[in-house]
Amino acid sequence: MSQLKAESPFYAFSAENPPALTVRPGEELTLEAQDCFSNQIQREDELFSAPNWDEVNPATGPVFVQGADPGDVLVAHVLEIKPATQGVMVAVPGLGALGHLITEAETRIVPLTEGQALFSEQVQIPLSPMVGVIGTAPREGAIPNGTPGPHGGNMDCTLITEGSKVYLPVEVPGALFGLGDLHAVMGDGEIVVCGVEMAGWVTVRLELLKSRQLPLPLVENDDLVATIHSHEDLDLAAQGAIEGMARLLTESVGLPLNEAGMLMSAVGQLRICQVVDPLKTCRMEFPKWVLESVGVLDLASAAA
Ligand code: CA
Ligand code: ZN
Repeated sequence: MSQLKAESPFYAFSAENPPALTVRPGEELTLEAQDCFSNQIQREDELFSAPNWDEVNPATGPVFVQGADPGDVLVAHVLEIKPATQGVMVAVPGLGALGHLITEAETRIVPLTEGQALFSEQVQIPLSPMVGVIGTAPREGAIPNGTPGPHGGNMDCTLITEGSKVYLPVEVPGALFGLGDLHAVMGDGEIVVCGVEMAGWVTVRLELLKSRQLPLPLVENDDLVATIHSHEDLDLAAQGAIEGMARLLTESVGLPLNEAGMLMSAVGQLRICQVVDPLKTCRMEFPKWVLESVGVLDLASAAA
């Protein structure tokens, strides 16, 4: 199995980044990831100041996927997320949704052990390891890893856990896939701009769909599919996620728009991923049992 260490991360998704590893579609690989602070905060007396969004969230890669052509969809199956032994959280004046109220910077080291994040003596949080940054290179330019977008990036979507699949666009030959910004656990919203940030190891299998009939980015797990959209404006992030799901249900699944809308209204869940990055991110979740009821057993075939 291929492996890639975390020592030479990249800080922006770009076609210009030379591949660090080449894999065949279907191959499993393990990527080691630094935490979002480039592993620079290890003690509680080390404080974080307002970020330069170009220099946070190191990602491991890029991985060149043989045969990936612009127009394809890259499906990243997240098989395993192995946490480091400690996580870190920060609260910083001026940062995040409470930054205007926070007066003193604070760092909290959070030991991770036996499935728990030891937040304080009183509070232990069950781990739910997830990947904050996961994406592919855009056709042009460089997108800093702190920013989410059509290419994926810093979506901070709590659905991207073990067992999930992330559907991403291929815009450049090889896709140039990368990931980082692991969280031991994170709440929707990511209120002070961090989950329980951690380094770790992520095992993925990368596959290709030779078709682009899906709204991207898209996440799937055992229970649901979710369209993801990011925008400066939270209302428009929500609207984009909603319209993405409407496209999925009409164009790929074949439902009439009114029926798609009624079902989204009846059993869909519109949720916030995060409200603290340069663009805000929403997702529209839709249950797979309803897709199965209308005869869609897997997204890959619906996309064909
Ligand atoms: Ca993040
Ligand atoms: Zn993070």
